[in-house]
Amino acid sequence: MTIRRIVIVGGGTAGWMAAAALSRLKSDNPVDITLIESEQIGTVGVGEATIPPFVLFNRMLEIDEQELLSEVKGTFKLGIQFVNWGNRGDSYFHPFGNYGYEIDGVSFHNVWLKYRMAGDQRPLHNFSPETIAAQHRKFARTETMQHDDLPPINYAYHLDAGQYARFLRRYAEARGAVRIEGKVDNVRLHEETGFIASLTLDDGSEIAGDLFVDCSGFRGLLIEQALQTGYEDWSRWLPCDRAVALPCANSGPDLPYTRATAWSAGWQWRVPLQHRNGNGHVYCSLYMSDDEAHGILTDNLDGQVLAEPNFLRFTTGRRKKFWNKNVVALGLAAGFMEPLESTSIHLIHTGVSKLIALLSLDGVSKAQEDAFNRLTTKEYERIRDFLILHYNATERDDSPFWNYCRTMSIPDSLQEKIDLFRINGQIFREEDELFTETSWVAVMMGQGISPANFNPMTATLKEPALSIEVGEVEKSIRFLVNALPSHSDFVRQYCPAA
Ligand code: FAD
Repeated sequence: MTIRRIVIVGGGTAGWMAAAALSRLKSDNPVDITLIESEQIGTVGVGEATIPPFVLFNRMLEIDEQELLSEVKGTFKLGIQFVNWGNRGDSYFHPFGNYGYEIDGVSFHNVWLKYRMAGDQRPLHNFSPETIAAQHRKFARTETMQHDDLPPINYAYHLDAGQYARFLRRYAEARGAVRIEGKVDNVRLHEETGFIASLTLDDGSEIAGDLFVDCSGFRGLLIEQALQTGYEDWSRWLPCDRAVALPCANSGPDLPYTRATAWSAGWQWRVPLQHRNGNGHVYCSLYMSDDEAHGILTDNLDGQVLAEPNFLRFTTGRRKKFWNKNVVALGLAAGFMEPLESTSIHLIHTGVSKLIALLSLDGVSKAQEDAFNRLTTKEYERIRDFLILHYNATERDDSPFWNYCRTMSIPDSLQEKIDLFRINGQIFREEDELFTETSWVAVMMGQGISPANFNPMTATLKEPALSIEVGEVEKSIRFLVNALPSHSDFVRQYCPAA
């Protein structure tokens, strides 16, 4: 079956990211891109913090950054501040970018560990430009600035999710994607193959397709309701299953980072946009009621509440297959691991990229399906492990929720990572996994996991050259950050809200 008609169901972030990326195919190919969405059903309406690869997704679409950020009222994000995670009162920063840089094959945090064990008191974050800039509420794009061996400051965006979907809708429609307003009421399967043949809308019209992209949100209209693919439940490791979202007023684009504050049965996000803060409380319904979660959230906002609370329910986990027959699921239809490290939009990005890389207009095959599923499963599992680390690596014993998280059994893959780090500070990243060495080190050390020793290769680096180089890194970062404007000033000048 040749692919001439690609039908996307859903017009949330996933649907429009898919439509925007796939609409680029149209210029040279005989393929129709149709997106069906229902205003009556609406979108989940949250999802406003991103990670650095998202910047590349928009660059790949040749979207102008200033225009985009003005429209989505965006701000810059240098990482996430975690409050109350290792213990109540603790705080640490998970930065984008790296700690220093690799020196003769030895990772920088190992060099730092060597000095630390010899009594050096300098914190590791002194060697992270993103952390120091975040502490001083500063930001600029530094690609063109002079700063010795340091790579440019690594960043992502905070953005208004609704505005972003509208921006991408314009982009996709300008490239020939067709939007249909309507509710899918029925799904017709080919009798022999079990492939999806067509969708019937509530006005009785029938939309036929060759390849379907399921972006219908948690319900998984095609991948689950029609194809009954099955779901792997991860709530024994990621037990939060509810969220309440509540935007509030702010006084401008202040902090260039997301804040995640842990409470007694979950955590609160704070995402600063230009015109408001996005806030929400993610919690576990076994240990906290909706009213209690809402109360904690409203008691801990920076400004006046701007909307009614939006209560959401979810089960953490993933579809057993992301690509099944002629359906590829993206976004919440594919799975959800909770928003702690802002990975959901990223998974839409990588899902679309894999789909485009594997796509053939000659039809779909088992090989494509298998490759997509194998790669995506690995990707989900690596991210899952990183998220579990935040819950499990804690000394908190002040609530039944934290007692559960602290003592739960964790996947072997995560246990091995922790064990290896404890031995000699090494982080083993596998198969191109998303989170960097710096990410793992930041969270492990930030939540109290320390190595017994540093990697012995560190001892091969010669003194005094090494300590001079380390001192230079620290100095260059200070110098660079001193030269940056405040985040607020940069946003006002570079991408003021349209
Ligand atoms: P939705 O937004 O739910 O869209 C589903 C679409 O399908 C809608 O257009 C709907 O109308 C349509 N639809 C459904 N059924 C039908 C039907 N029968 N007929 C026609 N149309 C239909 N991600 C991040 O990266 N960063 C974050 O900070 C972040 N925070 C989050 C916080 C919470 C509490 C939650 C729950 C998620 C968060 N996410 C975050 C995830 C992020 O919100 C989603 O990945 C993203 O919004 C994509 O959602 P979606 O498009 O898959 O689904």
